[in-house]
Amino acid sequence: MNGTLYIVGTPIGNLGDISARCRQILEQVDFIAAEDTRVTVKLLNHIGIKKPMFSYHEHNLKERGEYLLSKIQAGENCALCSDAGMPCISDPGEIIVRDAHAKGITVVPIPSATAATTALAVSGLQTGRFCFEGFIPMNKNQRKDRLKEIEDETRTMIFYEAPHKLNATLADLKKTFGGERKLTLARELTKLHEDIFVTTIDGAIEFYTESNPRGEYVLVLEGGEKKVEEQEEISIETATEMAISLMEQGKPASGACKEISAITPYSKSEIYKMVNLQNNAKEI
Ligand code: SAM
Repeated sequence: MNGTLYIVGTPIGNLGDISARCRQILEQVDFIAAEDTRVTVKLLNHIGIKKPMFSYHEHNLKERGEYLLSKIQAGENCALCSDAGMPCISDPGEIIVRDAHAKGITVVPIPSATAATTALAVSGLQTGRFCFEGFIPMNKNQRKDRLKEIEDETRTMIFYEAPHKLNATLADLKKTFGGERKLTLARELTKLHEDIFVTTIDGAIEFYTESNPRGEYVLVLEGGEKKVEEQEEISIETATEMAISLMEQGKPASGACKEISAITPYSKSEIYKMVNLQNNAKEI
């Protein structure tokens, strides 16, 4: 019978964030696959666990992945860990998870924080809809293409960045989104020098011309305004329904029509007229 592949999240900095389930699974499994065994052994020493370990990183994904899966197919249970946070999130894991599913092996998540959503939560930006962009490629053409793809993104965007590339990335973000776009830089989350810098792209550029970037960064960038062309697809009937819905929630007709006018191509009076027509029709 197959064993299980556990995808085990570890703290993104503060060892106090290690979960009881993380400890329990690391204790229970037969072996651990680690992105860097030297990093994971420190965590294991901290919690007093000794286990056979195998490295599993971006340079041995294929052959090591097959070997690890063959051990799981022979009935052993494996915990996959990365250096910090959730494996598979800008870290190795995606391929072994895909291949485990293909072989009918049960994959169980043991979640931890991930830097992306931790930063989003404290960014002060909209959290309802967001997209994760990970590291922007360094290759010039790929980088240009990636930024082009997201230039009209309206959701909050999350990027990972290394300190020595931060200034170049801020400069490219300014070219793509303009310097006034809101940006939160979440640095060294959960660690001693944790810092949440709520600013704009220009504000960050100004700050980092004076100081050197240090530590690990997540950049959380405000999404753009919806383009007018997209707004024009809204019909006057839809705009009317939107205003009526606000009125049903208790907004006065005039305020509701004004609010909907601001986000659709129709004037307040056009919407007001349609709202009156609909209300009169209901009364007849
Ligand atoms: N798997 C990890 C996760 O779940 O967030 C991400 C690994 S990725 C190789 C490393 C990047 O994550 C760093 O360069 C940084 O952008 C971000 N990161 C990780 N830990 C962080 C922390 N404590 N504070 C800020 N950013 C962090």
